[in-house]
Order: sequence, then C-alpha cells, then structure tokens
Amino acid sequence: MYYDVIVVGGGPGGLPTAIAAARAGMKTLVIERSSALGGLAISGLPLLGYVDRAGNHVLGGIPQEFVDRMEKVNGTLGHVRCPIHNSLTIINPNWFRVTAFEMCEEAGVDVLLYSELMDVQTEEGKITRVTAFCRGEKRSFEAKIVIDATGDACVAALAGAWYEKNEKLMPPSLTFMIGNVKIGEFLDYLEKHPESAELPDTYGMKQTKEQFFDSVAFTFTGFAELIEKARENGDYKLPRDRIIFMKMGEPGQVMVNTTRVNDVDTSDLDDVIRGEFACHKQVKELMHFFKTYAPGFEDCFLASISPCLGSRESRRIVGEKTLTGEALENCDIPPDTVVLAGYNVDVHVPGTERLSLQPVRHAIGIPYGCLVSKNVPNLMVAGRCASVASDIYGLTRIMGTCMGMGEAAGTAAAMAVEQGVMPKDVDVRKLRERIVKNGGIVKL
Ligand SMILES: Cc1cc2nc3c(=O)[nH]c(=O)nc-3n(C[C@H](O)[C@H](O)[C@H](O)COP(=O)(O)OP(=O)(O)OC[C@H]3O[C@@H](n4cnc5c(N)ncnc54)[C@H](O)[C@@H]3O)c2cc1C
Repeated sequence: MYYDVIVVGGGPGGLPTAIAAARAGMKTLVIERSSALGGLAISGLPLLGYVDRAGNHVLGGIPQEFVDRMEKVNGTLGHVRCPIHNSLTIINPNWFRVTAFEMCEEAGVDVLLYSELMDVQTEEGKITRVTAFCRGEKRSFEAKIVIDATGDACVAALAGAWYEKNEKLMPPSLTFMIGNVKIGEFLDYLEKHPESAELPDTYGMKQTKEQFFDSVAFTFTGFAELIEKARENGDYKLPRDRIIFMKMGEPGQVMVNTTRVNDVDTSDLDDVIRGEFACHKQVKELMHFFKTYAPGFEDCFLASISPCLGSRESRRIVGEKTLTGEALENCDIPPDTVVLAGYNVDVHVPGTERLSLQPVRHAIGIPYGCLVSKNVPNLMVAGRCASVASDIYGLTRIMGTCMGMGEAAGTAAAMAVEQGVMPKDVDVRKLRERIVKNGGIVKL
C-alpha cells in the first residue's frame, strides 16, 4: 500500500505529525507498537513546555488543541504556573488517550496499532518501503516521506541515518499512580516541616510555599529526611535522593516519578527488560516507603503502573541542523524557528541519584533543520530523537515541545509532498507562515 507520509510512533511527537499531515490532505499512516495512541502522554505525567519562565505562552496549534479538547471533558487542570517547571499541565491520561483517537480519526489518519517497525528498505539512500510486524503478520508500505517519532530513532537506525548516542545516558524510570492519598495531611506535614521541600543546589531554583498551598496542581520534590530514615532502617535502596510526585486532578490521586535504573539504554532490548524488572521491584519498595514513612500516605494503594519503562534519552538523529547549548547564551530564536522550547535544561545525571535543573529565562527556537535527517533525504523526525546536542537536550525532550515539533514536521512533510521536493528544500518562511496560520507559535 502507498502513503504520502508514514509516521512511526504514535506518542507526543508522532500524533501531531500525523494529524498535521492528514489535515493538509496527505494520505497518512501511523505505525504504533502498543494498543493505544499517546506514548508517554498516557502514563499520567503532566505536559510541560506550554509556558516559558517569563510567562509567555509558547505552544499553540495542535498541542494547545489537545489541551482545549481535554478541558471540555474535565480531563485537564489547564496550564498552572510552577516555580520549577514554569508550567504544569496536569492531564488525566485516559482523556489524552481518548482525545488522540478522536483527533486521528477526524483528521483521516490511518492508524496501525499493535504493529512494531520491522524493516526499512532504501534505494539510493532514500527510504522506499517500511515494513511492520502487525500482530502476527508482516505488512509493507511505500512512502514518500517517513517520520521517525519512535523516541529511540528506530527508523533512523534501520535506514542508515546518522545518529548520536551518549555513552552515559539519562536513566529511564517507570512511573506509577497511587490512590487514597490524604493530601491535606501531607500539606499539614509540609507546613510543619518546610525543610522537606528543600532542593539540592543542582536544581538552580527553589520550591515555594504557594506552589503547594495556593495551587490546584503541584509537583513535590523532597522527603530527603524521610529517605534518610528509611535508609537507616534498610527500607530504601533506590538510587534517588528525592521523591517526586504530582498531585493529579482526581481526589486523592498522585503520580510517582521516582523509580530509576542507571546504565540502561532503552534502544537495547536486553537493557529494557532488565530495567523493567528493576523498576517493578522499586515500585514495591516505594509503596512500602509511602505507607510506612510518608504522612498522608498510610492508607494509599497502588492504582496503576505505566504500561512501559519511560525513556529519557537514547539515540538522537544528526539533522541538517543541530540545536546546541550555544543557543542558551542569548536565548536564541533564529529566523528558521518552527517551534519554541519553553522549558529548563532538566537532566537526570547519569549514574547518580541526582537531578540538575538549569533555569532558562525564556523560550528558545528550534530550527527546522533539527527535524530533517542529514543523510537520508526523505526521513524526518519529531519528538525526543530530534537533532539536539546533549548539552541542551534536557530542554527539548519534554512532551509539549515534542508535540510542537510534531506539528512542524507534519506540516513540512505535507509541503514537501505538495511541491514534489525533499524536506530539506521546503521553504522555511512559507512553512512558518502555515504553522502560524494553523495556530502555532514561532516567535515571542
Ligand atoms: C520518567 C519520565 C518522566 C518524564 N516526565 C515528564 C513530564 O513530567 N512532562 C513532560 O512533558 N515530559 C516528561 N518526560 C519526557 C517525555 O515524556 C518524553 O521525552 C516524550 O514523551 C517523548 O515523546 P516521543 O513522542 O518522542 O516519545 P514517546 O513518548 O516515547 O513515544 C514514542 C511512541 O513510539 C512508539 N514506538 C517506539 N518504538 C516503536 C517501534 N519500533 N515501532 C512502532 N512504534 C514504536 C511507542 O510505543 C510510543 O507510543 C519524562 C520522561 C520520562 C522517561
């Protein structure tokens, strides 16, 4: 079967890509290995990146449309200011999932679920065919443009596209949800023990009282003193110096982002399996910790575990352009910007217990060339495997920004097909005009 645009991966990067391409009239296919659309956005993590540190709203278009639609069904608390993350967009992951199906169907995207990328055929350096293993059978498709939104750059690796991968990678984590937490009791404890929310120097910013007491949504990072106690009792062995959880929109529910397994490369199957085993063990350890040590958590229960180990970092393609840390010096927004990245440089330091957060005063621009492979002419990328150097990667890997990249990549792919050119030859000025016409934001 023939497609104008094939998107591999139906997560935050892939969904807006496919929707934008299909809305532009392209025959579009998404190949997704799991049973649902959404990738890590259906794990319960908040969407980050919509509002920058200076308070500018930096994502419109399809990323904002997701939030607007979820607002209509009480599936999100909207964008809430946060002194650490700039903004938190807490979502009910089930509504993200429903919304993703709805938007793909309305746009006319063909969605191939339960289908894992198997092979990529190339001729004269261009991808001609994509093959997937689809619930027991092999299916093959021709495509003009292929967009890698797998997170791990699986298409790029199979197609011989150049990519980079750090020797030491940020550790993956398995997130989980717990219910029946007495938030009031937790807040009482925090009122009496404000030191519990003190952050190490590597954060470069501080949590505030208002963040917890005056806000409908928050992320808490702390409990160092309780971890110390649990360690003394032999109840805490995790390589993590702080507990991180988010208060969800639903009563008594929090999402925990604290498991961590070092030295796991999520583009390696054996590593991933090892990581899954280690993190499932940590879920049990953390549940014991919460019930035994954390005020307000005594009667909590394990409500759900994210469907898969979440990857922070693996392969990144080498693009026509690469965003590097230099962009941070002046908070650059170059003229070929197609999406604004409005977060901070957030790094889970490989091989350690630590996290480091470098505040960025306002959004910077991601140039179009970061979404276009340098050596495979009809391969593009959207999401965390875009062409971004490791010194600034902690800024662009978050879901809101990945969604913005997706809308830009899908729009560009459609323009390339319409004009019969390769993605690198798309007129960036016209691309930006089209992104803005569709509600996207490319400058402050
Ligand atoms: C523990 C953790 C906490 C995080 N916290 C936050 C947070 O609070 N807020 C935030 O905004 N970001 C957060 N991030 C970052 C963010 O979640 C990811 O960087 C983002 O989801 C990347 O989007 P993506 O579409 O590139 O990849 P993914 O979300 O991983 O989606 C990739 C999709 O491709 C599919 N896929 C992969 N390989 C194949 C294949 N070979 N064949 C077919 N389909 C395939 C997957 O099933 C998946 O649906 C966190 C990440 C982790 C790991």
